[in-house]
Parts: sequence; structure tokens; C-alpha cells
Amino acid sequence: MKKNYLLTPGPTPLPPEVCEAQSRPIIHHRTPQFQAVLKEVTDGLKYVFQTSGDVMILTASGTGAMEAAVVNLLSAGDTAITVEGGKFGERWTELCSAYGIKPEVIKVEWGKAVDPREIERKLKANPAIKAVFTTLCETSTGVSNDIKAIGEVVKGSDAVLVVDAISGLGAVDLKTDAWSVDVCVSGSQKGLMLPPGLAFVSVSKKAWGKIDAAKCPKYYFDLKVAKKAMEKTDTPFTPAISLVIALAEALKIIRQDTLENIFIRHTKMAEATRAAMQALGLALFAPDAASDVVTAVKVPAGIDGEKLVKVMRDTYGVTIAGGQSEMKGKIFRIAHMGYIGEFDIIVGISCLEKVLKQMGYKFDLAAGVKAAQEVFLK
Ligand SMILES: *Cc1c(COP(=O)(O)O)cnc(C)c1O
Repeated sequence: MKKNYLLTPGPTPLPPEVCEAQSRPIIHHRTPQFQAVLKEVTDGLKYVFQTSGDVMILTASGTGAMEAAVVNLLSAGDTAITVEGGKFGERWTELCSAYGIKPEVIKVEWGKAVDPREIERKLKANPAIKAVFTTLCETSTGVSNDIKAIGEVVKGSDAVLVVDAISGLGAVDLKTDAWSVDVCVSGSQKGLMLPPGLAFVSVSKKAWGKIDAAKCPKYYFDLKVAKKAMEKTDTPFTPAISLVIALAEALKIIRQDTLENIFIRHTKMAEATRAAMQALGLALFAPDAASDVVTAVKVPAGIDGEKLVKVMRDTYGVTIAGGQSEMKGKIFRIAHMGYIGEFDIIVGISCLEKVLKQMGYKFDLAAGVKAAQEVFLK
């Protein structure tokens, strides 16, 4: 028997209440029973997004909400800034290009956060820019961008600020309204402790103005249609009913915990993980802008990074993530997001130590676990 632990930045582990909710018999969605759930989750999502504006639920993975943002806000021929500091920033550029929108790419070195002044300079230089596409946590590099500061520079312009908060929302602070985020997109399988399949998108007043003028083709992801349905506590198409019901359970847990406590817990788990890696003599990939939802670590010289991840998973049941595209084999990533607690982190670190030891890497056994415990004891 091998017990499995999931420490990846999506999907993340599921609380028992969420598992149970999904196993219930299905109900029909055009019913008062489902409408009550829809109302409850819409209110709960506003709490998590920290917005009094609209939050719509789409049946899609997180990328569906990213696509919805692009096609609802813009028209072919428009110009938009995309911030590229990893795989997910690149996705904004790819989405814009797919719809004939000209991306003004801000290239950021992988492992670094974007400098908000660079966004400001580009916006000033080209007043025709209609949107700024950014990422809260660039999951591929473990970098956290300063959305609050970016909001300050975008707010005074004609452009709308769009944030991919797929990894991070409900785990680290993102004040949609207070930070002037016009469109915030998220997904179900990261901080929100659900399986993949639901995507969320918040829309500010300023963004609704852009949506009215946008001409990109769209059908399934038409946010005006979604809003019309939402006003009648309905959805345009069959939603992922069981996931919405499970979302109600996840939101209950989040409300009971409170966002405040959730943010403190994530910061602590991140600090413990970073302290453990340093105690093992491992270098962080993003030391200056480390996210509190996932820690990216450089694979030490002489160690096969892909094998490390594979042995942890296939021999010991502890799943962490490797590096993506150009970082393949060069970094590994440990998530501390959602339904993950301090002792899951301890398990992850001790398994990492065991496999590193077996692979011949030199360090004091249990040094990482000790460093993490010390952070948790503070
Ligand atoms: C996971 C993730 C996505 C992709 O979401 P899918 O659900 O796979 O479509 C996008 N952006 C970020 C930052 C992510 O972490």
C-alpha cells in the first residue's frame, strides 16, 4: 500500500466535504433547489474575490475564463499589454494573438516579478492600449506579481486591468475592488479546493463599458449572456451541477476559516517551505518575488530533477511538480495552497530529503524538516 499526497499547484487536494458533495445524486439545474445553491455560491465568490461587482461562473478549466476575458473585452485590431514571465503569462499573448489582438509583450526574466513602472511607461507611450493582462502567481516560476501596485498605474488610464488569479485566489490576498482589478479570473482546482472544471470571472463597471464595445466573436463565453442569466439566478447552459454544489461546501469552509486566517496560514507554509529548502542548501528560483502558494526550487548540480520528482511520486506517493518547458528538469515546485496543512508540508519535505539522500546529494538529514518545524513553532 502506498498513501498518496498531492502537493502540486493544481489540482490541489480536496476536503472530505467537497468529495462527499460530489457523490450526491444529481439534481436538475432549473429548479429552486439549485437556484438556492447558485445564489449562495455567487455571494461566497464575492467574498473570496473581495468585490461587490459581478462574478460569473463558467463551466471550463481556468483557461476558459482567460479566453472569456479576452473575447469579451476586445476587438480584432486592438492593442493590449501582456506580461510574460512564464508559461501562464505567455498564455495571455497566445490568446490575444488567436483573436487578432496585437500583444505589446512585456518580457520578464523567469523568476522575477514585473516592474509596474514598465507597464506605466508602455501605457503612457501608447494611449490606444485597451487592456493589461497580468498574472497574480506565475505558477510556472513561483513568482508573485505586485497586483496592488499594477492597479495603481492602470487605474488612471483608459485600459482595463485583467488578472489571472487562477492560482492564488482564496489563498493569498487579492482585493479586486480596492486594488482596481477590472477583470479577475480564477479556476476551481487551486486555492478553492475543488476538482478542475469551474472557472470564475469578475467584471468591474469599467470593464462592462469595454465589453459593450468589444467585437471579438464569442458564443459559449459571452459574458453579457451569462450576466443576464445570473440576474435571474440562472446559467445560460447546463452548469457542472455537482461542482457548483461542491463549491458551496468549499466556500463554507473558507468563510468559517476567514480569508484573514487563510492568508496567514499560506504565508506561514510558504515561509516554512523556503526555510527548509535553504537549510538543505537548495536555491530558490524566485528569491526576490516568491509566491506564498507555490515554491520553485533549483535542482542542485548533479541531480536529475525529472527523476527526483518521479521517484517521490512513483515510489513514495508524494506528488510535487517539476519544471515546465524551458525549466524542465531544472526546477521542482512544491505547492502549499488550498487544502494543504503544515504537516502535509512536513511530509513533502521529508520525502524530498529521503530521495535527495538516495540520489547522493549531501546535506544533514532532517535539516529541512527542522527548519520548517521552527517556522511553524514561531
Ligand atoms: C493552473 C493555471 C492556469 C491554467 O488553468 P487551467 O485550469 O489548466 O486551464 C492558468 N494560469 C495560472 C496562473 C495557473 O496556475
